[in-house]
Amino acid sequence: MDLAARADKQAQDAHAFTDDALWAASDDPGVDRDRAKQLKALNRDEHDRIIRLPAEVADLLSPSDRLAQLLDRLPERLPVRLNGMRNMHLSPSAAAAFQACPWKWQTRYLHGVKSPSGAAAVVGSCVETPVEWWLSQINDDTAPDPSDEHVLRALVASALLTFQRKAAAEAIEFGHETPQEILAQIDACTRGWFAAHAERFERYRGTGLLELQSNFSFRLAAHTDWYVLGKADIYARGGQDRDGTAVGPVLWDTKIKARMLSKSSAAKEFQPVAYGLGAAIQNPDSPLPSFEFLQVRRPHTDAGGRTVSLGASRVPVNVTREQLRAGLERFATVAVQIDTLYRTLGPDLPWGYAASDHTLCDRRYCPVWDHCPQGGRP
Ligand code: SF4
Repeated sequence: MDLAARADKQAQDAHAFTDDALWAASDDPGVDRDRAKQLKALNRDEHDRIIRLPAEVADLLSPSDRLAQLLDRLPERLPVRLNGMRNMHLSPSAAAAFQACPWKWQTRYLHGVKSPSGAAAVVGSCVETPVEWWLSQINDDTAPDPSDEHVLRALVASALLTFQRKAAAEAIEFGHETPQEILAQIDACTRGWFAAHAERFERYRGTGLLELQSNFSFRLAAHTDWYVLGKADIYARGGQDRDGTAVGPVLWDTKIKARMLSKSSAAKEFQPVAYGLGAAIQNPDSPLPSFEFLQVRRPHTDAGGRTVSLGASRVPVNVTREQLRAGLERFATVAVQIDTLYRTLGPDLPWGYAASDHTLCDRRYCPVWDHCPQGGRP
């Protein structure tokens, strides 16, 4: 499959498997019923994974009094959005958004107001198109050599094409940067990712061990009719590499950002915990996967006029069993709080605001800033 066709297929798949599509398909009488059933079955299958942890962590994670109480209090369902669709899952980003600003969570997950994509997110998702295509070819040992300039140019072209499609289809918040600058960043970051990180995956050539956009979903308790959803960029199942050497399971998350995470800040991120938890629950017979951030710093001029150069680094994160336990508690706490606030205050009254100096509380990133008593307040 060529790169453009691959990008189209990714866009179709992404659309087909969103919850909105799932529930819209099941409710709209005009749609293909078989397709709706198929999607519902897929959802049910994911739903049925409840906490089953590998023996090596089960002891430590056996519910404490606090965790047991939280799990008992979990709502059976998450609140319904104002358009009538159910919130079927809680992702790490949704949980973090709720904890940062409950009112912003309400506007996004109950009222349906979406933030425009920021430049950094757009650059990251454009770079992912050729990266994912190339990794899928590694699985089959058909990936071309990205150190060949002709190959690299084709990979960069695929990332640039993705930007053109995005710019035509969705609102992008460019801030002080121009579309031309974003295109140059996509070019540089695609080259940066392949130069810094591609070599790491050569050992997986022809092994079929790599999974892309792995869906790690699980229920926190048997009585819940919703699930926790984590989507890892790259997951390698344990097995034997191309030389027959044993390799353990590994999770990678690609980060294309204005600033790179340090080792200490990476250790505080929620993604390694959420994905590690999901992988442990889905594969209880497998060792806990290791986790690495594959970072690229996008070259840009910041709002203060300073020039930031292209950079890349790999940051391994050691997820402890205590962090996994804290991750479970965090998801459970957020779900209980959402349920309590929804039942006591309803969907329209604000449940609380972000700290006014929070990075999210900014006109550029918050779509309701102008109307928010905190954001728009003189
Ligand atoms: S302006 Fe700030 S407080 Fe208001 S919704 Fe946005 S992030 Fe929350």
